[in-house]
Amino acid sequence: MTRRTKIVATIGPASDDPATLSALIDAGMDVARLGLAHNTIDEVLERYRRVRAAADAAGRPVGILIDLPGPKVRLGSFGDTPVEFAGGHRFTLVPGLDHSDSDKVGVDYEDLLSDVHEGDYLAVGDGSVVVRIESIKGDSAEASVAHGGPIQGRPGLHIPSDRLSITSPTQQDLEQLDAFVDAGVDMVALSFVRSAHDIRRVGTEPYPRGPLLVAKIETRAAVENLEGIIEASGAIMIARGDLGSELGIEEIPHLQKKITRDCISGGKPVITATQMFESMITSPAPTRAEVSDAANAIFDGSSAVMLSAETAVGRDPVSAVATMARVAERADAEFDYDAWARRIRLLRSQELPDSGNRITDAMTAATWRAATEMGVSAIVCISESGFTVRSIARFRPRMPIIGFSPRDRTVRQLTLSWGTVPVRASGHVNSIETMDEMILAAREAGHVRSGDIVAVLAGTGGRSTDMLRLAEVP
Ligand code: PEP
Repeated sequence: MTRRTKIVATIGPASDDPATLSALIDAGMDVARLGLAHNTIDEVLERYRRVRAAADAAGRPVGILIDLPGPKVRLGSFGDTPVEFAGGHRFTLVPGLDHSDSDKVGVDYEDLLSDVHEGDYLAVGDGSVVVRIESIKGDSAEASVAHGGPIQGRPGLHIPSDRLSITSPTQQDLEQLDAFVDAGVDMVALSFVRSAHDIRRVGTEPYPRGPLLVAKIETRAAVENLEGIIEASGAIMIARGDLGSELGIEEIPHLQKKITRDCISGGKPVITATQMFESMITSPAPTRAEVSDAANAIFDGSSAVMLSAETAVGRDPVSAVATMARVAERADAEFDYDAWARRIRLLRSQELPDSGNRITDAMTAATWRAATEMGVSAIVCISESGFTVRSIARFRPRMPIIGFSPRDRTVRQLTLSWGTVPVRASGHVNSIETMDEMILAAREAGHVRSGDIVAVLAGTGGRSTDMLRLAEVP
């Protein structure tokens, strides 16, 4: 493995046929993201089965991330032809109307008129069009276009999250989630969370018995309650679209760096998302600025980068993933591994985890040091829940992490972990002999070679890791 940063690709009408799914996996998709905002549960379940089938055929673990829409407010459909909204144009917003035209714009949120105020500016989509609420009368609102542009399909309407009277997860989220928990889903993203309490309300079994919960950071409250949300979640997504609408686009680079740093020091994978290769929705190549943004997200420490509309509805989803894989591999080669590890060691001393995790924390720090001083070929990490793998990945070691787990779901959850090659272990590790079996399995799978020195780290139960060996591969 040369690429360390993982790629999440959103599956949609442009990418959900079996041949394209197989090509996406070949091109480097590690995790398939399935949204629920535009499709029925049955349609998304069909996509889910197709991704599983394509991964099985490829013989490679691919994680599936279900993205619950949360209290996302959307406009009534404009259809497929863009409708131009020129600056200054006045129109009526009608809650409950399921279609829109240039004069009457539907909104799928009945409580809109009690949550917005006169003078509010609301972003449409990812902010390309901004509208101003002029007046609220009876069952509709008069609005004007503050920043004009074309609108098509069913874009989101960003209402400041502290005004929204519905909270995340919504009743609909929880109903949709049930269907995917029954199917054995690997990861679930929660939109518009505001606190750790929202994550706990999901109520699924904690991983590895249940899915890894991915909190999308896109509200002001989530930024303020970041520490608790990171603690309560399995991973974090920096949802730059709504985050930019809520806090202002100029805040994005700074928040992105802070959220990334806090996630990694907490041992949680972090996905940088939205508009990474936006121009590839319609063009064959990303812009220079997009390539630099992706590389900088990697230099900042992102565990994964995400493609959204580029792969869901774009002109060439496979090329978008292949291009991202090239950009990520090149950026990984320039990553400042030593500086990062020094930084994590400092962050650790400021933010020592609670006692339950201290053993794993100390063992992974010792493993990083031993592996680096010895220049080992790989870190073989055997973990029931994936916790130890994520913990060693914090240090961003130079060598690959071969992440073994006896649980299929954990293996697929590790597809999101930076620098990790996820592998199914044949059984549990409880002795030197079973560690040796894993070394042989890593050799058989071609991840290490005879004569290589490897560091082997094993968590033999619960949440702590208690064995480290430096061994020569037979
Ligand atoms: C975002 O807002 O950046 C995001 C990832 O969420 P969604 O794609 O669901 O709008």
